[in-house]
Amino acid sequence: MRSYDAIVVGLGAMGSATLYHLALGGRRVLGLEQFKRGHELGSSHGDSRVIREQYFEHPLYVPIIQRAYELWQELEVQTEIRLMTLNGGLMIGPPDGMVVGGTLRSAVAFDLPHEVLTAGEVSERFPAFHLADGLIAVLDPRAGFLEPESCNTAHIDGARRAGAEIRFEEPVIQWAPDGDGVRVKTASGSYRADRLLFSAGAWSGDLLRDLKLPLTVERQVAFWLDPDESTVSYDKSRFPIYAYEYIPGSICYGFPRLARGVKASVMHGGELSLTPGHVRRTVYEGEVELLRAALSAILPGLATAPVLDNGVCLFTNTPDHDFIVDFHPHFPQVLVSSPCSGHGFKFASALGEIQAELLTKGSTRFDISAFRIDRFSGGVP
Ligand SMILES: Cc1cc2nc3c(=O)[nH]c(=O)nc-3n(C[C@H](O)[C@H](O)[C@H](O)COP(=O)(O)OP(=O)(O)OC[C@H]3O[C@@H](n4cnc5c(N)ncnc54)[C@H](O)[C@@H]3O)c2cc1C
Repeated sequence: MRSYDAIVVGLGAMGSATLYHLALGGRRVLGLEQFKRGHELGSSHGDSRVIREQYFEHPLYVPIIQRAYELWQELEVQTEIRLMTLNGGLMIGPPDGMVVGGTLRSAVAFDLPHEVLTAGEVSERFPAFHLADGLIAVLDPRAGFLEPESCNTAHIDGARRAGAEIRFEEPVIQWAPDGDGVRVKTASGSYRADRLLFSAGAWSGDLLRDLKLPLTVERQVAFWLDPDESTVSYDKSRFPIYAYEYIPGSICYGFPRLARGVKASVMHGGELSLTPGHVRRTVYEGEVELLRAALSAILPGLATAPVLDNGVCLFTNTPDHDFIVDFHPHFPQVLVSSPCSGHGFKFASALGEIQAELLTKGSTRFDISAFRIDRFSGGVP
């Protein structure tokens, strides 16, 4: 049986980044992925992902995102591939709402440069935006977007160059502790390793059935729209990324025009499933209407634009929407990551480094106490 320092199960954003950092650190590593390279059945596809520093969800994410920026930049230099475009971001909502209030909380806590803009100031600087009465925006100058397919390619190719063994279309069907290490059985082989990372995204509940993690798989639809550009521009130079709290606690978000169109989506509110196998992968015609209604209060031209394309993607939600990054409560040689409640991609470079540290040294300098498994009372037997 082949033996490794570590095996990584699942090569989406989280697994590929961790494999990369393990391989760079000189570890003998194996990455196992059930589907083809570049598949679109999980959570890490779809052309663009928001990255923002002034994290409205909670300031605890700020040090991790700051490390993520550094690592994405390093990866760009190493691969000579553009991964990240920092064209700024508008965090839009009522002044006392979650998005504006949370953004300012993180900006102030870490003394980050930001501007609070009135509706008029927003339209002056970014003409496609017309904010309805009662809305303001916080401009995060370091926000922008990542290209997820290129990020995953950079991590996977980098890991392979550093010596990682990588097997696509080889699903893990069973695993068991083996002394201080683990054994893993796939559809075509068996392997042993000292350490194991589960970064299986929406499939985490299947592989970690023993933990009874309270996860839900949520179907999300992104739309690529084709607004008229004769009077206003959707180019990244005049059109930042944005997140808009359209009703209290709920956001829609979007990007400038990229090759496939002007992408926008409503976050959460999608159909919930227990496993990815039950997710409806088709999009029906009227599904764009909720997005149109949300956008009408900030981007009237985009709200009525024809749809060019759509795509289904999966969130793996925890009840509090914070991540899971923790050792298996019964097997400390096993690390569990990946359920990111739909906001994890931007952190993948840093979580890859953190998870590699946890697997090799058992600790990290970052505060990840909010990501512990034992916060789910009654979830872990
Ligand atoms: C529509 C949408 C928009 C999003 N927008 C943003 C955004 O703007 N900014 C942001 O930061 N985040 C965003 N996210 C969230 C982010 O993309 C995810 O948190 C992140 O991609 C999750 O990566 P992952 O590696 O955990 O999961 P995945 O990419 O799904 O990877 C898990 C992998 O494990 C494999 N696997 C599962 N079981 C097995 C097995 N038994 N054997 C082998 N392999 C297995 C799967 O095939 C899969 O490839 C968005 C997500 C969606 C769906």
